[in-house]
Order: sequence, then C-alpha cells, then structure tokens
Amino acid sequence: MTVKNEKTEEKKQDDSSPGEKVSDKLPVDHVWGADMYPERKGTKLKQSWIKTMFGFAERESLDNVRCEANVYHCVKNSPIVKLMMAALKSSGCEIDIRRHISCEVCNTLVTGGYDSELNQVVICQNSAGSKGLVQAALLHEMIHMFDYCRNKLDLKNIDHLACTEIRAANIGHCSFMGSWFQGFSSPINIKATHQNCVKNKAKMSIMAVHKVKPEVAEAAIERVFTKCYNDLEPVGRRIRRNSEDMMRAYTEAYLYGYS
Ligand SMILES: [Zn+2]
Repeated sequence: MTVKNEKTEEKKQDDSSPGEKVSDKLPVDHVWGADMYPERKGTKLKQSWIKTMFGFAERESLDNVRCEANVYHCVKNSPIVKLMMAALKSSGCEIDIRRHISCEVCNTLVTGGYDSELNQVVICQNSAGSKGLVQAALLHEMIHMFDYCRNKLDLKNIDHLACTEIRAANIGHCSFMGSWFQGFSSPINIKATHQNCVKNKAKMSIMAVHKVKPEVAEAAIERVFTKCYNDLEPVGRRIRRNSEDMMRAYTEAYLYGYS
C-alpha cells in the first residue's frame, strides 16, 4: 500500500494542509486495507443521480482518464517502471496493463494499493494526480507484485507484509532527500536517517493494512529488517531523488537478466 506522503510532490498538488503529517491523519484504529479501496470487492461507487447532478460523476471520469493516461505514460517512458515490468516478465509474471493495473477512487489517505487476490495494482485516481505520484505508486506496488510473484507472499502474515513494505519504502520512497525533508535526523548520519525513513514508512503502510498497534508493527519490522532492507531485487540500488539512479538501474538491468 502506498500511504500518501505529505512531502514534496504532494505539496505542489495540495497546499491546503502545510506541514500536516500522515501520522497525524491516519485513523489507524479502525482502518483495514479493504476500506481504502471502496471500489474493490463489489462495493463500486455507482453513478447516482445526486453525483451526476453535482458534477461528481464527470469529475470522476475525468480523473480516471487522466490517471490511465499517466499510467500509460509511465509504462512507456519511466525507466524504473519499465525495469519493474521487465523484472516481472522475467520472473514469469508478465503485466498486461489493462488486466493488472486499475485506476480507481480510493480513500484519500493512500495513492495506491496491491490486491493480491486479484493480482492487481490499484492506482488512486483521486489522490495520485500527477505523473510523479503515479510513477511512485506504480514502483511501490510493483515491488509488492514482484514479491508476490517471487516469494508467494502472504499479506495476511504481518512479517511478510513488513518485509515487502520495507523493500518498497527502501527502493522507492526513502531517498536521502525524502528523509531529509521529513526531518528524521541530521545529515551527519545518512545511514540511520535512511533506515528510520524506511521503518517509519513501512510502519504507516502496515498499520493502514492491518488493525495493529504501532508496537506490533514495529516488532514485525525489527524481526525482518536486516534481511529485507538488504534485499534490493530487482532494482539493485536505492533510488535517490533527482539523481541518475533511476536511469542507471534501468540501463544496468541486463546485468540482472531483466532486459
Ligand atoms: Zn505498500
């Protein structure tokens, strides 16, 4: 699950809540993963006369078209998304974008999700409004998809969930710049800053999926951290924001057999 990040990209999208932290907003006591994606599991938000009347339906379909265009753009142009597509294909889990990626209306706290029952990536058309956010959500959810493909991931097992969330945060979200902005610690100890970012991001995602106390999520993270933090497959390196890493990872993909 890609929990919405309050920093950087979103700032451009939403200036209405400066400085507000995800951790302040997550209603962790009563949120289950399934609640985040109301259009899943047959509770599709059908078009009603009231939605049509106030133009919500039109807005939704515009969001959907824009989301699908952004997904298509990333699949065609983003080096890191192309690398993930190639890695999934090499692992025997080829992605058909119409079958495996779905743009939907979600709870606004998240920008994406992975539905292991349907083996589908959900991109939240109402909260992932830019190409950058769609790319970040695709990378994050495709790491879950890759883990599901490679390791028979059981997302009901909190240790499995912790591991894949650590990997997704580590490879994608927690760049040096990202953790710098989030103010976890000084730049003197970059390694600790990065690890704290990964742990924090993974904790938020676990708590949004499972109805567990922070201590339970933290304990699961600690149990699997070393092993999962050091597993950078299939990207081979941590992606730093505004760096050449993304392109480098993609151009070196052939070294790992993902060409
Ligand atoms: Zn996740």
